[in-house]
Amino acid sequence: MRAGADIIYQANLSDGTWRGRADFLKKVDAPSGLGKWSYEVIDSKLAKETRAGTILQLCLYSEMIEKIQGTPPEYMHVITPENGFTTHTYRLDDFMAYHRLIKRSLEAAIENGIEHDKTYPIPVSHCDVCRWWQYCVARRRKDDHLSFVAGLSARHTVEINNWSIFTLEKFAQIPIPLQTKPSRGSADTYERLREQARVQFESREKHIPVYELLDVTEDIGLSRLPEPSEGDIFFDFEGDPFAYENGLEYLFGWVFAGDDQYHRHWRSDAGQRVAAKPGESRTTIGVFPIASATANRLPPLLFVNSYSGTVPGGASLVSGSM
Ligand code: SF4
Repeated sequence: MRAGADIIYQANLSDGTWRGRADFLKKVDAPSGLGKWSYEVIDSKLAKETRAGTILQLCLYSEMIEKIQGTPPEYMHVITPENGFTTHTYRLDDFMAYHRLIKRSLEAAIENGIEHDKTYPIPVSHCDVCRWWQYCVARRRKDDHLSFVAGLSARHTVEINNWSIFTLEKFAQIPIPLQTKPSRGSADTYERLREQARVQFESREKHIPVYELLDVTEDIGLSRLPEPSEGDIFFDFEGDPFAYENGLEYLFGWVFAGDDQYHRHWRSDAGQRVAAKPGESRTTIGVFPIASATANRLPPLLFVNSYSGTVPGGASLVSGSM
């Protein structure tokens, strides 16, 4: 920094208590204790939107830079991958008060300790990429935590804990119909979860996969599907939201009703046109509807059956771009 390098990559920062590694420090024309220049932090992230944790991270780096150069940076920046890399710039002063509050609370918690029962590794989406996951899963397994019941959310856990039930085993054994009316949500939901817990508990005790077939009920599950129609199509596609400018749907796959053949179309580039198999269009975008038409299978009424909510949205996106 004293030598005035334009960009410093992987800057190791430490103030004796806190430490971190900024992706980049960028030299700017604002005077500081270093000379006629100073530095601002840039971090690169894969997420399209800047998260609160990222802002706190950049505030901390900026604070450590201030200690080196004697003046606080005015801005901090996040670079994200869309549109050939976009720089999002934030004013440090807009966030520093919040950063100091969070930092003080964390330091106080470390200094004074936290009562054991005030923290618990309740599963969250970050667990999928967290380095501590093995410890947390082991702790939950040891406690036979309710989160192991399939379909049971953190909200359900809070409710069931209010009934002084904390383990999968105990939940699997409560009588149904429920003796306690849930404060939120329907009793039906909790009775279904209790049944799920019972099946899982039985599996665990017998060391075999236990399953039970549910009665077919009108308007529930597969019964909600419309009557079959000649020409129905079962369709799915896979995509990568971070590829290219707006993401890329890279695999289209479909099966026509009454025909076992799986049709597929791969796409490796947003503008790519590829050789197609007989019956398929050469045009990448819109290959699915054109392939349907060329198969002479379009009856007056057909249903496209898909497995997730992203498919209808994605399908209109694809057809809208034709
Ligand atoms: S695995 Fe990580 S994110 Fe998940 S509960 Fe444990 S510490 Fe928290």
